[in-house]
Amino acid sequence: MYLKSLNLQAFRNYTAQTVHLTAPKTILVGNNAQGKSNLLESVALLSTLKSQRASSDRELVQNEAAMGQIRGDLERITGEIELEIRLRRSGRRTVLVDRQACRRQVDFLGLLNVVEFSSLDLDLVRGSPDDRRRWLDGLVIQLEPLYAHLLKDYSQILRHRNALLKQYRGRSQASDEAMRSVLDIQLATAGARVMRRRWRAIQRIAPLAQRWHQEISGQTEYLSVDYAPQVRDIPDFNDAEAVRQAVLHQLRDRHPAERHQGTTLTGPHRDEVMLSINQTPARRYGSQGQQRTLVLALKLSELQLIEAVVGEPPVLLLDDVLAELDLQRQNQLLETIEDRFQTLISTTHLGAFDAQWLKSSQVLRVCSGK
Ligand code: ATP
Ligand code: MG
Repeated sequence: MYLKSLNLQAFRNYTAQTVHLTAPKTILVGNNAQGKSNLLESVALLSTLKSQRASSDRELVQNEAAMGQIRGDLERITGEIELEIRLRRSGRRTVLVDRQACRRQVDFLGLLNVVEFSSLDLDLVRGSPDDRRRWLDGLVIQLEPLYAHLLKDYSQILRHRNALLKQYRGRSQASDEAMRSVLDIQLATAGARVMRRRWRAIQRIAPLAQRWHQEISGQTEYLSVDYAPQVRDIPDFNDAEAVRQAVLHQLRDRHPAERHQGTTLTGPHRDEVMLSINQTPARRYGSQGQQRTLVLALKLSELQLIEAVVGEPPVLLLDDVLAELDLQRQNQLLETIEDRFQTLISTTHLGAFDAQWLKSSQVLRVCSGK
């Protein structure tokens, strides 16, 4: 797929800007705080409707403006589409495909596929389980957009259940029995759906990541990526009912502890993705360089997996990440991209790119939101 152009109105520090992307590789070069990341963020939003950096739309809309807008023209094998997001300070959003408002977010998700790689991702290994869950969920949404719905369902039920647990905290067993019997089944059903999709995505990405990792690091290091669900004793992830029963079973097992703590102790909100090198958790394994190699291997695998599942290469967004990799890893990344993936790269200087690369790239200078 190919993003042909981008139009930003009152988005971050862009007042009104149209950008035509005329080459498979676009390098955004500029000093700090000029709008490079903002531009990449707008592309990510057109894909995932999420920003890794902003916690609310208030931050995205330009200061002083009531409303902002991101529009992109996308070329896919199936034809051209126009994607548009209208952002409001209030947080209310409208998303449009070919100028028609979508009733549901899933009708918008999955039209533009991106893989984001920024310095934030370099913390994936050392970060919290929450960071890795977010990474995994983002990947699953790219592979099957409906997952966004399942995830939302699950977190709604979880919130509801937690609110009630808090309310009933410390009370007798009989007082919360009725609400539990209903909510446990709901949570187990929604939770099992989430877990099975996470498991499936890890099954698919693990062998790719292992191959990439070996290629970058040499033959001596062996990466494993494993889904570590918090719910134990799952005999077979292919069996939906068995997964649901396992969640339900563990939920019931922990009722006494939950009554005490007033929060849900079982379910995929506590899942973990285990990253290990030679069977040692990568988090503890050591050097920053090794951890970066691992993240690079994951990102390259994401590109490959999304391409295989979606049937078209995703767009790659590299935010200031080259400077963080050593020369060998930079080259590995640049060689893999070649002209296979449309790539938008932000950088503060062009030093990292060889002449060949510069010749085949579009270079855009970014200065104060222009
Ligand atoms: P760096 O090289 O430091 O990463 P960058 O070019 O990636 O810089 P961005 O993060 O894209 O920088 O842009 C930051 C600029 O955008 C800052 O000057 C910030 O004040 C401005 N900015 C962010 N949000 C808004 C907003 N809602 N309205 C106006 N300006 C904003
Ligand atoms: Mg930046």
